[in-house]
Amino acid sequence: MSDNLPFFIIFTDLDATLLNKSTYGWKEALPAINLSKRLSVPVIFASSKTRAEISLLGSRMSISDPFISENGGGIFFQDRSFPGIPEDAVFDNGLWKLSLGKPYSLITKTLHEIRDDLGISIKGFSEMNIEEISSLTGLDQESSRLAALREYDEPFVIEEKKHIEKDELIKAAEKRGLSISAGGRFYHLHGKNDKGRAMTVLMSLYRKINKNACSIALGDSPNDFPMLKIADYPVLIRSENDYSYLKGEIQSLTITGSSGPKAWNKAVLNILENSIFWKTDYKT
Ligand SMILES: [Mg+2]
Repeated sequence: MSDNLPFFIIFTDLDATLLNKSTYGWKEALPAINLSKRLSVPVIFASSKTRAEISLLGSRMSISDPFISENGGGIFFQDRSFPGIPEDAVFDNGLWKLSLGKPYSLITKTLHEIRDDLGISIKGFSEMNIEEISSLTGLDQESSRLAALREYDEPFVIEEKKHIEKDELIKAAEKRGLSISAGGRFYHLHGKNDKGRAMTVLMSLYRKINKNACSIALGDSPNDFPMLKIADYPVLIRSENDYSYLKGEIQSLTITGSSGPKAWNKAVLNILENSIFWKTDYKT
């Protein structure tokens, strides 16, 4: 890589961002994924998905960079991972794991307390069988089984017909030292971790290697906003919800015209190619 090319690190949400919302495919993003690999640009998956789900995707896409699971609950590193393993990471089942979130047993126990407290019908992943998870997510049975292997974050649905103020839920979680965020399909109860905090930890490791490390972050939902707020190149992937107000908070925000992997591809190619062509005499 030329010295003139910024040392880019890509942080990306998966569902409805790098992956198609209904098919979970990523074919349309392959040109940008391949260019990232060619330029040794790390692609960090940052998702509400579990370690088990993200590991599988990483091996299918031949991406072995560190990744962020369960809304910033955990950061996982391969044994010889670039940018190095933090000292407080522990070796767990083949990967180095840095826990930023609270244990799952505490999260599910607290969700039950909130449900009883507010008197509303809430159903979390831990109370669903694989068929239910599969029908809510559209994942096949095997993927649903991996989605149920949770460590830091409980996705849940509100079954109640009556209107629940989101603020009420958030306050109930806050009172217990936890947080609630909204993903594309589910609410999530988790510790004070978020994707942005995990991104900050990783960026400080990358900056030890290169102080000019420069972040690109892509996401479509509010649980991605903490990453977009701190990224050098924030990209909001268009979804059916209108989050254009975010442009008022993040001046450098790009909002894509299309959605999913097609939008991901275009946005990443734009950023990488512009840097290559303007800052070096790189030829394809
Ligand atoms: Mg998403």
